[in-house]
Amino acid sequence: MTLKSIELTGFKSFGRKSVVDFTTSITSIVGPNGSGKSNIVEAIRFVLGEQSMKSLRGKGGVDLIFKGSKGISSSSRAQVLITFDNKDKIFSFTNSGLGVSLDYDEIIIGREVFADGSNKYSINRTEVRLKDVVDLLASVNIGSSGHHIISQGEADRVLNASNKERRGMIEDALGLKVYQFRIKESERKLEKTFLNIKEVQALRREIAPHLAFLKKQVQVVEKAREMREELRNFYKTYLGKEGTYIENESKRLGDLRKSLESKGSALDSKIGELQKQNGENQHENIFAGEIKENENKISVLRSDKNELVRKLGRIEGIIEGIEHQFSKVKEVKNKVISEVEWKTFILDISTRIDEAIKIEDLPNIVEALKNIKIKLGELYENKEVGEQENTKIEDNAEYKEMVEAQNGILNEIEKIQQEEKKYLDIISNLKQKEAESMASFRDSERVLYELLREKNEVTSEIHSLKFEEEKLSLIKNAFEMELAEAGVMIGREIISFAQERFEGEIVRSSQEEIRRKIERIKIKIEDAGSGSGNDVMKEFQETEDRDAFLAKEIDDLNKSIKDCHILIQELKEKLDTEFKVGVEKINKQFQEFFALMFGGGGAFLAITMEHKKPKKNDESIEDEGEEGEDEEENEIGFERGIEINVNLPHKKVKDLHMLSGGERSLTSIALLFSISQVNPPPFLVLDETDAALDEANSRKYGNMLENLSKFSQLIVVTHNRETMSRAQVLYGVTMSSEGASKLLSIHLEDATAYAK
Ligand code: ATP
Repeated sequence: MTLKSIELTGFKSFGRKSVVDFTTSITSIVGPNGSGKSNIVEAIRFVLGEQSMKSLRGKGGVDLIFKGSKGISSSSRAQVLITFDNKDKIFSFTNSGLGVSLDYDEIIIGREVFADGSNKYSINRTEVRLKDVVDLLASVNIGSSGHHIISQGEADRVLNASNKERRGMIEDALGLKVYQFRIKESERKLEKTFLNIKEVQALRREIAPHLAFLKKQVQVVEKAREMREELRNFYKTYLGKEGTYIENESKRLGDLRKSLESKGSALDSKIGELQKQNGENQHENIFAGEIKENENKISVLRSDKNELVRKLGRIEGIIEGIEHQFSKVKEVKNKVISEVEWKTFILDISTRIDEAIKIEDLPNIVEALKNIKIKLGELYENKEVGEQENTKIEDNAEYKEMVEAQNGILNEIEKIQQEEKKYLDIISNLKQKEAESMASFRDSERVLYELLREKNEVTSEIHSLKFEEEKLSLIKNAFEMELAEAGVMIGREIISFAQERFEGEIVRSSQEEIRRKIERIKIKIEDAGSGSGNDVMKEFQETEDRDAFLAKEIDDLNKSIKDCHILIQELKEKLDTEFKVGVEKINKQFQEFFALMFGGGGAFLAITMEHKKPKKNDESIEDEGEEGEDEEENEIGFERGIEINVNLPHKKVKDLHMLSGGERSLTSIALLFSISQVNPPPFLVLDETDAALDEANSRKYGNMLENLSKFSQLIVVTHNRETMSRAQVLYGVTMSSEGASKLLSIHLEDATAYAK
């Protein structure tokens, strides 16, 4: 990789486009004071991304733009393009690259600055960011510290610098800046990570109380869900059984009602029938009239008979009188009962018996029988049946008449008696019938009574049935209400619960027990608060997820911190080792070059450890109680530097400040060349670095240049003839008549004159 050319347009004194081609290993730029040589060096710094205006000898962007001259008008912008050879494709992007292709034989880096101070960067004419340019240059070991560009008067910069600054320069020259960058980057990342952790921890702390609150809420919801599930299970049995119970009971009570009602109405009709029947039979002694009628007839017959008996008595008296008359006439040996007497007697007895029959009460019957016995006794004592003496009483007309009358009455009586007997029979018959009728009435009354009793029973059963029905209706109402409530609590599912049917007996008491349990759970659920809790669950889940996410993030960040620490440690170790090795190598060269320049003596670089001013940010890191913070503290507390020790030949001077200008120049050149030898930069720009050298040292300087040019391309701005003589190509810079810098290629012979 070589530097090919630089093109300046409107940059500082270069009002017109000017190109410097770097075709050889040493290019020398010569010209009088103020012609614009240093502006070329600055153009190189500028295009490579220099940000310090001081290094560019200006205050702002406008100072870099050609101000205009009597011949050329001012520019609106300054542009510099630098061209590198890229045939070996050494350029690369370590980071982004922005999709800019580097697959070209040339890489042209451009920078423009405008009056307002704004800049534009480009790579192969494609606009890029500054960091892309820096990144690209880093890939070819062109660091931003500019150690490879030594501006006018800066030759002893490395001597004037502090130990720390010197270390930076050497690190850069050794190509170790990349480690520093990476360490810085990792440290920044570390700091940022700590801040992130703090932020995330704060976020976690912020949501912690809410999460705890939600957790409690969720527990309540879960408890409520459990209770709801329990409730659901209770309902499942309860509703099904209750439904079954009501259905069974309804059917049972319905059937019972039907049967009782039909039994009742059957009884009613039977009772009605019987009552009607008995009501008709209620007219007691249906035969009484008829009996009375017959008795009346008998009574009439008896009075007739009595009349006849009295008549007969009279007649018999008459007959007796007649017979008495006759008996006086005749001697009567024996008292003989005449036929008439006999008949009369029989009649008398017969009548008495009849009467006795009629008598119903026993004492009178006895009395009647006694009278009959007395009559029979009289007959036995006074009378004797015998043949009446035939005294021809029969011939007596009266007697005859009387006897006839007597016979007639007797016949009549006989007839009456027969008739009487007929009626008595009828009466007795009627009475029999009446008795029978009474008996049957009493029987049917008994049946009626039995039926009424049964009816009563049915009525009372219907009564208690009604009670049961009311009870069932209450149960039904309660069930409906429970169903509605269950629907609200459990959902449509309860319909299927209620429709489920159970076999076997459903015990009310156990149903009641379940119901009490259901009530208790319902109260508990109500106490736990309404709603499904889905919102709470969702919010809890989200918050918990977020918390877990944050916790994971903290873990990740902690891991990243650990990784960062490890990386920083590794980088520091690597830097440390490479730095030490590099310094060692530089020291070897430095010693050699120094001795060469001074004709003896020696010099070396020493690595120092110095207290570091603490950064304010460091406290934030300590806050987190990071592991190994003591170590970190030490690392932060001390920093490395580079000290230059010189030992001039024949002199006791050790302090750099006590060196002469030339000695300082020689020392710094020796060091600079040593560094460049150890890690050769692609090119090295030296702006009048040789200004303070005498002839002898100028020769040594020239020798070293030639030596160095084997490793790096050299661009030297010089007034020194010895230096010019070592260059293959010489450029002369003059201030043209137009008032702008002008470039032309010249020969060595002309160069000395040119420089003046
Ligand atoms: P020396 O040999 O004395 O170091 P030099 O050749 O290095 O001189 P420079 O320092 O490169 O000279 O150039 C300085 C010149 O550039 C001055 O004359 C200055 O007026 C001119 N110059 C600087 N900035 C601008 C600008 N923006 N526009 C025009 N001219 C400028």
